[in-house]
Amino acid sequence: MNISYLSYLYTDDLTTIENFKNYIEVKNIVKIVLISEIIFFILLNLIIHFFYRNYLKKDIYKKLEIIEKYLKDGKELKSFSFEKDFLIGNLWEIIKKWQDENLKNISKLNSEKRVLKQIINSVDTALYLFDENLDVIVRNERLPCLFEKEKEHYIEAIKDIEIIDVLKRSIEEKKGRNADIYIPRVKRYFRVKVRYIKEDNRYLLTVKDTTQTRGMIEVQKTFISNVSHELKTPLTNIKGYMIALEDAPEPLRQQFIKTVNGNIDKLENIIVDFLNITKIEKSNLINIEKVSLEKLKQELEISLRERIKNSQANISYNVTLMDKSKNLKLDFEKVLIILKNLVENAIIYRGTRIPEIEISIIETRGMYKFGVKDNGIGINPDDLSKVFERFYRVDKARTSNKAGTGLGLAIVKELVEKLGGKIEVLSKEGKGSIFIFTILK
Ligand code: ADP
Repeated sequence: MNISYLSYLYTDDLTTIENFKNYIEVKNIVKIVLISEIIFFILLNLIIHFFYRNYLKKDIYKKLEIIEKYLKDGKELKSFSFEKDFLIGNLWEIIKKWQDENLKNISKLNSEKRVLKQIINSVDTALYLFDENLDVIVRNERLPCLFEKEKEHYIEAIKDIEIIDVLKRSIEEKKGRNADIYIPRVKRYFRVKVRYIKEDNRYLLTVKDTTQTRGMIEVQKTFISNVSHELKTPLTNIKGYMIALEDAPEPLRQQFIKTVNGNIDKLENIIVDFLNITKIEKSNLINIEKVSLEKLKQELEISLRERIKNSQANISYNVTLMDKSKNLKLDFEKVLIILKNLVENAIIYRGTRIPEIEISIIETRGMYKFGVKDNGIGINPDDLSKVFERFYRVDKARTSNKAGTGLGLAIVKELVEKLGGKIEVLSKEGKGSIFIFTILK
């Protein structure tokens, strides 16, 4: 019916009153319809808004809050899923992928960090990285005697002014610096290096303890000068006797030739011992092998056959091994050199007696303990601690060993230490000595 009224609105014939009435009526109806529709839409909007605020928005917020919490705590989003959620399903997928990537990167970074930390801590050099404010940002645990653990600023973190000075100069010049310094407080030498990292305005400080290297260089120098000195004496003797030989009458000639030969022996011994000691120093190889006790005895006696025969030495053994078939597991070559030197000394320093030598071997779970006991001239208590030093020889007049070099026991000690053991000597003058050493299995 409304439609038929509306049609009057568009007719050209508005002259009749009836028509006009109809027009007013239609207008009112349209007004009412319009107003009621506006009210309807406003109400609908209000309802949608209310629904959105109270249900949809809250729900999305809640889900986003859960995601945020998980992300903040660094937990994996896999433990719950919004994949099928019609509102945030897509967003959820994107966030999950992003988090997967991030977690992968984080674990990669963490493992790289761990490796870096292990490397930094395994070097024997103290390492400190300072930022532009000169606060420590990376440090390792080396040389704790030089650094304060908890302190951040370089002035407080570094204990000694000698190192601070090197770093300070590098900071002033904005350039790297190297210095060899001695720190009296700890009585040690250090090599200090500062590297300036221009891009980040940072300073990398490394400190290495060089005391031992310096000490070794000193030892090498003394060793070489000692060797030269030791070589010079027999050489001068040989030269002198050779000149004297020219005009010497016959009985003297034989005596001179004997002396020359003795000195040549001495030269040979020094050179052999010198070569041995340098070889031992260089080689860190330990070659553990299974050898029978019998083989050890045989080889030892073969290597000293002449000396044993000439001195009529009697060698006895006292052995307690864990292995029933009497095998030993050790660096045979090195142990043989040690025993040979000790037994040889036991024969050389016998005095006037026939040497009675007892070799003992006791095997325990972790080591072998050896003893070489003799009935020789013994060692004076003052000399006891020095016999293992290189070139140390007890008063030559008391011994018959004119060709000795004073290197034999130094070689023995070096070898024992290479095998992870220790050596000591107990002795009574005029009664005899016992050299006891251990080696790790
Ligand atoms: P070398 O025998 O060439 O002199 P070593 O280093 O073997 O050098 O020995 C150092 C010194 O220790 C010897 O000169 C000797 O006086 C003393 N010595 C070593 N072994 C014995 C021993 N078994 N009995 C007495 N003195 C010893």
